[in-house]
Amino acid sequence: MTEDVLAELRALRARDLPTHGGRTLAYVYDSALPGLDELAASAHALASSVNGLDPTAFPSLLELENGVVRTAARLLGGGDAAVGTVTSGGTESCLLAVVAARDSRPDVERPSMVLPETAHAAFHKAAHYFGVRVVAVPVDPDTFRADPAAMAAAIDDSTVLVVASAPSYAHGVVDPVTEIAAAALARGVRCHVDACIGGWVLPHARDVPPFDFSVPGVTSISVDLHKYAYCPKGTSVLLHASADLRRAQYFASAAWPGYTMLNSTTQSTRSGGPLAAAWAVLRHIGDDGYRTLALRALESTRVLREGIGKIDGLRVLGTPASTLLAVTAARDDFDVFTVADEMKARNWYVQPQFAHRSSPANLHLTVTAANAGHESELLADLRASVEAAVEAGPVRVDPEVVAFVGGLDPDSLTPAEFAGLLAAAGMGGGGGGVLPERMATVNTLLAAATPALRERLLIEFLGALYS
Ligand SMILES: *Cc1c(COP(=O)(O)O)cnc(C)c1O
Repeated sequence: MTEDVLAELRALRARDLPTHGGRTLAYVYDSALPGLDELAASAHALASSVNGLDPTAFPSLLELENGVVRTAARLLGGGDAAVGTVTSGGTESCLLAVVAARDSRPDVERPSMVLPETAHAAFHKAAHYFGVRVVAVPVDPDTFRADPAAMAAAIDDSTVLVVASAPSYAHGVVDPVTEIAAAALARGVRCHVDACIGGWVLPHARDVPPFDFSVPGVTSISVDLHKYAYCPKGTSVLLHASADLRRAQYFASAAWPGYTMLNSTTQSTRSGGPLAAAWAVLRHIGDDGYRTLALRALESTRVLREGIGKIDGLRVLGTPASTLLAVTAARDDFDVFTVADEMKARNWYVQPQFAHRSSPANLHLTVTAANAGHESELLADLRASVEAAVEAGPVRVDPEVVAFVGGLDPDSLTPAEFAGLLAAAGMGGGGGGVLPERMATVNTLLAAATPALRERLLIEFLGALYS
């Protein structure tokens, strides 16, 4: 019975974090608009078996993609020359920006890219995949915004790309794009603005420095539709200022006996579902609708930020320009990771972020339109969570264990030793690897590990989770 299958799926889904209602403050985006999910699901179903691999065979997808790209380009200051591609997500948009930059410079033997150290990890993934060296430049330790003079100084003859965020995921601040793009332009280097999370909001926000194609030197922009355009998962747009800049992103291969493979993204067969759903959502909400949604999320962020400022023990990092907040402990008699656990016990998900360079351990909140009008509930539970965390005191992990973990070299560990470490950290879990309800101790141990060890531990963890 089809109904039984769906019932089984619903039962599985019931164990997930809620995707609607504003209680999950990362990963998901809720417009709270009635009927939007149904529209998106119907549009998705209409096109999910259509293949974007060949736009001449399925011209509907060509029409939809061009429409979506034009909407994004118009929003982000792209002139008539601006072009783009719909990708599967922000990471793919960033990957393609990097590979296009690399391949447009065959003269550079060992290519590198200059990033603020707050740039999204997608650029480190691109570096890893495409053999582009990362030059990570420290940001201002108080504002967490990129330092344009330091970025300019880091550009050299091997630089094929300079990146700025609008805004950064971790702190929600907008880098000084004008200065960074000018420095890139002066050296004849491409400049990518990662507006994956803010691109659909910032055009409606006040007091935001210029960050789009109106800034001279900006050559590409990434903007995710599955974030603040409130589309179902699986769509982002990579825009280029002109078709010339896009060419190196495309791939063709005639080196086999089948059809000549011709791809605009990393995918080949591409479902039309996410694209059709995004097109339908964009059309339905429209410019005015997005303006309203953006203002709602921005106002909610302002209310939350002000409320958090009044909670004894908490502090918002930097001056967030859009709808993201990074909240840290202003005192050392409690742990923010415990606050995350306490919020979880009160049915909220806030995302732990480890300390990195000048950024202390903090909690990330992605605020959406669904939070508007419900700020007081969140603030009351946050205050209670801090009080409970103070009551519990800082997480105590045996200093010898911390020293031991901090001194481990991931390259010298065997798979069995990794399994032992994961078990010791409470991440063993066995088959199906379920995590403990409370994560503060695990996070404290992970925080004690070097970043390289943490990466390896988490990779081993993933391997234990998946069959
Ligand atoms: C979310 C995000 C990405 C990556 O997007 P995915 O859709 O998760 O692949 C890249 N950059 C920024 C700034 C983001 O917020």
